[in-house]
Amino acid sequence: MLNADLPWLQAPLADALARARSHALLVQGPAGVGQLELAVKLAQSWLCEAAAPAQPACNHCPSCKLFASGTHPDFQLLLPEALDASARESLGLPFEEIETKAGKAKPSREIKVEAVRNLLAFAQATSARGKAKVVVIFPAEALNGVAANSLLKTLEEPSGLLRFALASHDSASLLPTIRSRCQPVPLPLPPRDAALAWLASKGVDGAEGLLDATGGRPQQALEWSQAGLTDAAWQAMPKRVARGEVQALSDLAPPRAIDALQRLCHDLVRRSHGQPGQFFAPASLSSPKRAAPLLAWDAELRRAARHADHPLNASLWIEALVAQARAAMSAAVR
Ligand SMILES: [Zn+2]
Repeated sequence: MLNADLPWLQAPLADALARARSHALLVQGPAGVGQLELAVKLAQSWLCEAAAPAQPACNHCPSCKLFASGTHPDFQLLLPEALDASARESLGLPFEEIETKAGKAKPSREIKVEAVRNLLAFAQATSARGKAKVVVIFPAEALNGVAANSLLKTLEEPSGLLRFALASHDSASLLPTIRSRCQPVPLPLPPRDAALAWLASKGVDGAEGLLDATGGRPQQALEWSQAGLTDAAWQAMPKRVARGEVQALSDLAPPRAIDALQRLCHDLVRRSHGQPGQFFAPASLSSPKRAAPLLAWDAELRRAARHADHPLNASLWIEALVAQARAAMSAAVR
């Protein structure tokens, strides 16, 4: 069976199938809660040859079996190169690793016009099994300007049986012309108990703390756990940073280190206003008296985040970030 069956998607899936009036749906909401999985389940359901109209896929018919094996002739999944293998792997679909040769550019994070041209050829062809043809695009904001423009006409007037399921965690950045051609399908954060049960089923220890650390996004919590982050390490991080311990962050990739500091700063600002933190447990956080040094730190973190993908020297960069964090945190408690 396809690896897209996140338990909290059942209700949004049923709802989206029942309410779909347009041939193009746009799943939107925060990242890390299953947008791609919902778009893929929509596609499978539209292609299913046994389910009643507007009902979820049966998982057993010939179409569903082709779908799960990644060989359905009427299904196209459009992803940026940089995401292609990992997204297909997490869905349980076959994938090919893109070879990155020395000196060759990194796999692109954009969906380029060449990929959309191939898609348009698929859009013109007749449906192989005669039920529908479905295109899933994720994340839709990865379509670059030229690619998005070349998609517009087909999105507006698809031929025959063609349907689209786009998914986006930044729908505000989509071209308005793309947005206006799609019926929105909101996908909010899942209920906490459903997210925790799912994380437990994946063998995640300290799931509550990691779920809070990610702001309630279970897929992100799983990813962090698989990358080696534990709840204990997360909860110890604020005090270690306050002591100037570079090792508190040195295991993290630069973008993740910046993200962790931004969450810490956010929580400390809340504490300085007498509110509880969102990402860290109460015992993990100091009690700052002044917000001003934290707000200045927040602005510095935002500047640093723009360069987090390519720091010239990652360890020096982390050292500077920790020194900056320590200074801001100590100024805030004075
Ligand atoms: Zn089926």
